[in-house]
Amino acid sequence: MQVLRTKAEFRAARRAFGALGFAPTMGFLHDGHLSLMRRAKGECGAAAASIFVNPTQFAPGTDFDRYPRAVDRDLAMLEAEGVDLVFLPEVQEIYPEGFDARVEIGGVSQGLEGAARPGHFVGVATVVLKLLNIVAPTKAYFGQKDAQQVAVIKKLVRDLDLDVEIIAAETVREPDGLAMSSRNSYLSPADRTAARVLHRALAAARDLHQKGETDADRLRSAMTAILASEGRAKADYVSVADPSTLQELETIGAQGALVSLAAQVGPARLIDNIILAPEGGPPSGD
Ligand code: AMP
Repeated sequence: MQVLRTKAEFRAARRAFGALGFAPTMGFLHDGHLSLMRRAKGECGAAAASIFVNPTQFAPGTDFDRYPRAVDRDLAMLEAEGVDLVFLPEVQEIYPEGFDARVEIGGVSQGLEGAARPGHFVGVATVVLKLLNIVAPTKAYFGQKDAQQVAVIKKLVRDLDLDVEIIAAETVREPDGLAMSSRNSYLSPADRTAARVLHRALAAARDLHQKGETDADRLRSAMTAILASEGRAKADYVSVADPSTLQELETIGAQGALVSLAAQVGPARLIDNIILAPEGGPPSGD
């Protein structure tokens, strides 16, 4: 496995490969990240990862400075998965003196995380465009755990004619249902137990839908009530949205739904989602 710290070094090393699968990360890796690497390697024959905690997608005063880092451990995990190339740049390499561009994606970046975290998706779209240009992958892999991010990246690729296929990979969960996240490391044991409430709320929404409930507000109310029942959790939003446009739904119809939520649990802001399958489609997202 080669670890490259500059754009020039990465580009030179990449030339030795044909098809290449790529998964960008912010490090502090867990099995969710590794599932992306396995797919990249399995489907493309060669895999690249990046580890870069991107400052421009964090609002001032949020967790950029305390975001967990463990680069040596991450590199050992990537090597064990057979990853071929790792791009590990410093902030200066990505944002040199005078850097002054930003990529803004419209509609799908506005609600949900975009509304809760102003500027977040401008930071994400800008850095992902740069990483895709540097890495030049055949396919790029993103986790469905960040469902809106997948929608934003797919729109970026479509609207700006990037020559890469975007693959969304299933959310990897802990045995009790909590979606794996680097931010779970912020949780105290009591917060960790409380954090199960996110998955419980989503599971309740799915149960209601499976029993025939199509009124989106009933699903939102059920999720809100479950989140409110856990004193250590503070709901940020609950959403039942069209899976393509991410617009809030009144009725769940043939299009299915993206059911998502965000909550503060102790020091960690956690997000999760499930997809309610379109009519006739297979169940997925969990
Ligand atoms: P991050 O390091 O949090 O920026 O995540 C890097 C990539 O891993 C993103 O595409 C995430 O959506 C994905 N990812 C994070 N957590 C999970 C998970 N539990 N299951 C699947 N993919 C994940």
